[in-house]
Amino acid sequence: MNKPKMAMEKCASRVLMLLSQLDRLNEEPKVCDTDAIRQITGKILHILQTQEKTRKEMVSKGSSGMEVILSSLENTRDLQTTLNILNILSELLTVGGGRRIGAFVSKGGTAILLQLLVSSSKDLPLNEELMLHIHSLLVKVGPKDRKFCVKARLNGALNVTINLVKRNLQNCKMLLPCLQVLRVYAGNMVNAVSLGKSGALDLMFEIIGPYSKKSTTLLKVALDTLAALLKSKMNARRTVDRGYLPTLLAIYQDWHRNDIRHCHLIIRKSILGCIKNLTAIKLGRKAFVDANGMRILYNTSTECLPVRTLDPLVNVSSLIMRKCFPKNRLPLPTIKSVYQHPLPHIPAGGPVAQLYSQPPEVDDVVDESDENETTEIDTENEEDETGHKRKNDDIETDINKLRPKQMQTRPFDELRIYEHFCVEFTEDFKSQDNDFKSCKAVIFPSSVDSHRPIVIPTTLAPVGSPKRGQQLENVQPHKLTESPLELGSISISKTPEGKSAPDLACSLSRLVLDGGSDDGHQEESGEQAVLEVPDTAAVLPLHDPDLYLEMMTYTRSVPAYTEVAYPDYFGHVALHLREPILERVYGVQRTKIFQDIERLIHPIDIHDKVVYDIDNQSSPVVENGESLKFNSKFESGNLRKAIQVRKFEYDLILNSDINSNHYHQWFYFEVGNMRPGVRYRFNIINCEKSNSQFNYGMQVLMYSVQEAIHGSPHWVRTGSDICYYKNHFSRSSIAAGGQKGKSYFTMTFTVTFQHKDDVCYFAYHYPYTFSTLKMHLRKLSDLRTAQIYYREDELCQTLGGNSCPLLTITAMPESSSNDHISQFRSRPVVFLSARVHPGETNASWVMKGTLEFLMSCRSEAQSLRESYIFKIIPMLNPDGVINGSHRCSLSGEDLNRQWQCPNADLHPTIYHAKSLLQYLRATRRTPLVFCDYHGHSRKKNVFMYGCSIKETVWQTNVNTSSCDLQEDLEYRTLPRLLSQIAPVFSLSSCSFVVERSKEATARVVVWREIGVQRSYTMESTLCGCDQGKYKGLQIGTQELEEMGAQFCLGLLRLRHFTSPIEHHKHNSHLLDVENDLIERRNIPNITSPTTYVLEEDEPAFLEEVDYSAESNDENDPDLEPDLQDNRALPDPSSDSEFSHQDCLT
Ligand SMILES: [Zn+2]
Repeated sequence: MNKPKMAMEKCASRVLMLLSQLDRLNEEPKVCDTDAIRQITGKILHILQTQEKTRKEMVSKGSSGMEVILSSLENTRDLQTTLNILNILSELLTVGGGRRIGAFVSKGGTAILLQLLVSSSKDLPLNEELMLHIHSLLVKVGPKDRKFCVKARLNGALNVTINLVKRNLQNCKMLLPCLQVLRVYAGNMVNAVSLGKSGALDLMFEIIGPYSKKSTTLLKVALDTLAALLKSKMNARRTVDRGYLPTLLAIYQDWHRNDIRHCHLIIRKSILGCIKNLTAIKLGRKAFVDANGMRILYNTSTECLPVRTLDPLVNVSSLIMRKCFPKNRLPLPTIKSVYQHPLPHIPAGGPVAQLYSQPPEVDDVVDESDENETTEIDTENEEDETGHKRKNDDIETDINKLRPKQMQTRPFDELRIYEHFCVEFTEDFKSQDNDFKSCKAVIFPSSVDSHRPIVIPTTLAPVGSPKRGQQLENVQPHKLTESPLELGSISISKTPEGKSAPDLACSLSRLVLDGGSDDGHQEESGEQAVLEVPDTAAVLPLHDPDLYLEMMTYTRSVPAYTEVAYPDYFGHVALHLREPILERVYGVQRTKIFQDIERLIHPIDIHDKVVYDIDNQSSPVVENGESLKFNSKFESGNLRKAIQVRKFEYDLILNSDINSNHYHQWFYFEVGNMRPGVRYRFNIINCEKSNSQFNYGMQVLMYSVQEAIHGSPHWVRTGSDICYYKNHFSRSSIAAGGQKGKSYFTMTFTVTFQHKDDVCYFAYHYPYTFSTLKMHLRKLSDLRTAQIYYREDELCQTLGGNSCPLLTITAMPESSSNDHISQFRSRPVVFLSARVHPGETNASWVMKGTLEFLMSCRSEAQSLRESYIFKIIPMLNPDGVINGSHRCSLSGEDLNRQWQCPNADLHPTIYHAKSLLQYLRATRRTPLVFCDYHGHSRKKNVFMYGCSIKETVWQTNVNTSSCDLQEDLEYRTLPRLLSQIAPVFSLSSCSFVVERSKEATARVVVWREIGVQRSYTMESTLCGCDQGKYKGLQIGTQELEEMGAQFCLGLLRLRHFTSPIEHHKHNSHLLDVENDLIERRNIPNITSPTTYVLEEDEPAFLEEVDYSAESNDENDPDLEPDLQDNRALPDPSSDSEFSHQDCLT
């Protein structure tokens, strides 16, 4: 053994001996020997200071060292002993980190120190050394003690510290630890208010001064303390009232100017932190703008932009500027939809009654109040758990609501009328003629005005109705020149009076160039110049431009559209090129926000010229050739207004859903008169969702007519610099569900057009109009063979006078023998629907895939038809689709929230769909599967929502015996099969939880009331996939259609599980069931509910996506103990703080 080690051991045992002596003395306070205690503590201190390793001994496991020391500290009245012990503690707590401090806190050390602080503050004269020691220790332990702030307040320590600060403003040695403790105190809201009243704010401003290289540590602590104090709105108000905001701005500018080498980034950031907290209140924002804060922060930030390390400053500055940007109202006369549709009756208290009972100006009130600005939170919220609770709020916990309803819905006599939608069940198929008659049904109403003119729109076409009776022959023909085409001059507008629709369609098969406008190229006048429609028919068997026009004449829109958009007319051929999900470019959002702020800083650049306005159709827009031309007066179009903001930048406003004042996200419009090679920025400024896949790599869709004519009739993903963020246009609380102070969101994208004189279309997703559906159905019905039973009925008329088709598809019975007829009648029903939400066009493409598969001659398709009888409503909301709505029907309501009590007059499609389901149930033909196709705007992949009592119960903490509930696993089988078949399908995104907010949706009502166990919503992404074969790619119509076909294959496999005979043949499938069981058994163990519906599931970006600028998005210091630790731990030597903390702002 070597000597030092022996010496060490000797010392260690010596310390223990001394401690036990001290312990004995503590226990006999009466014979208290002050001198002895002083001596012993002195010796212990000496050993600790000379032999580092003995510290470990004192606080090792099982040692009572800490208790003994603390007990001595509590008991002693001797100054020297107190100082000895404080020094001992300081030695002990300086190293060893959190564990030793944890031991100190758990043994009640904090309270003893605070009591000592308060009691010694009463001794006069004040012992500075003692105060310094106590504060130095408090700085160490405060941040580690969750109750520190409360203890400090209850012990009366706040005022002791603040008085010390007041008295020691020039004494840096004393001031620093006091300020550091103050900073910890101020992390608690109640303390902050109390400190503010005691003059802490003024004190901080005495310390914070202009740029100086001296005492930057002190300055930093003072700024952080101030920032913490200013989280209290009362303090913020006090500070603004005293005129300190311009002071802070001046100090910030001073540091910005002088800190050339950026050595004091954290100080500059702390100054901004104070300004940020001040601008959380309305008064502060006003003071900021009055003090020219926008320009100051804009200019300083612009200077910071080139240096990447200064990003934290730019980010906080931009947050402040966004918050202070004066809120504007949307430049609209009213936010109510431009179009209204008279309803058969307006239920009192419904959304429409509410909407129209308000005086016209009400919805435009700009509400400047602070979002969620409530009274000062003067309560303790250290143990606030609201954040955890909120997550599960929406899960249905009422077991009775989860159990299938036993009630009989409607008397069977009332349901009997639905028999005619199910004639196949009574058909005897005896006569071959009969069969065919029964399969045919005409859906076109005869009452439609078929004399409406049809216009292929162009942005150059005159606004308003085209001239009637203009004949093709009257058009001056001229030769078609080579690219670029003068598309602007194309006009087709004639309806020969009295001609029937098919004839009309025939005459429109060609686009004819209008003469006159193309003077330079009129060499060979008289020659018939025709523009060939792209030959899409070869690749698009269901597309036919002539048929489209014919179908369109029967489509009734509220604005009575007469124009056809080129893409719908020409057709869209899926692009075979793979379109990857965009990588987000660093700093995009910031750049866009700065450009927005520039509108305020450089108003001279702003044109603010209205170039399209459907509110004001009577006064046509003046053309000067320098502006883009917009149009969306065609089916599914919904652009309301376009404003040229700068030379190549446009603000676009979408129309609200009909009879509503909100719901905008879907868009579809046409642009012309562009200059090729120029970057145009488009901003859709009245989006409402709080986040979007546009932040995660999704692009907009564009269709170029020039490209189409030259052989590329595709919708393509396009646009760069795409992002989605909260803007400065305020939403009226009426349109924001009663919430005040909400803003709209901007979806911005930049496009460079390739061709001169092109006409381009932009859309949120691949358009799919009602006329397209009718054209597809007509073409599909032509695919019928002798083997296919296909019938099309009219489920009902919509509010807008359109016919809602209901399809029945199955296989014809093999013969009319009793056996075959009985097999036919015994087929289970599969009920499918789509497009209840008009903005979710992807649902229609999936449905198209399903329908095409069902009508195909593939052997699987025949097996499938032989297995089931399909009842399909491909478009539950035709009116919404036609009128360019995003969410609602003409009743101004979300139809997928009406399934509980649909009204026959207001929600006819839902009412009759539900009744048909009730009829099926009443006739013992409850569907085996119900699936409603939707689109999802915030998640990737395709997935399903189903309904399970058990999985719902598991998500809640409700302790019930319901886990004994018998529940079949059948609801999981189809999603599992689909995840095996379809590459876009993601099982892990599926959820089987019943949410309260979804109780009136098709999925939940069909499950609960009709008793369909396999009742689903199938959600398709609008963006793309992050797993499977298409990982990293944006989704196209081909993948969506493929999904629709694969859904059919899934149903075919499902048959093996549901047919008792087949079941035994397929052992492999039994294995699947077992897997299901295993998987299910594991679910309750998952702490974070992966199967519960998460709104978003996106990973973090390098550049944090910040779409908001609201004060309540900031971290509450009382809820972030870790963050508080970081801030309060004194580490003035290191600048590392800003490098990893920026994401916290
Ligand atoms: Zn939907």
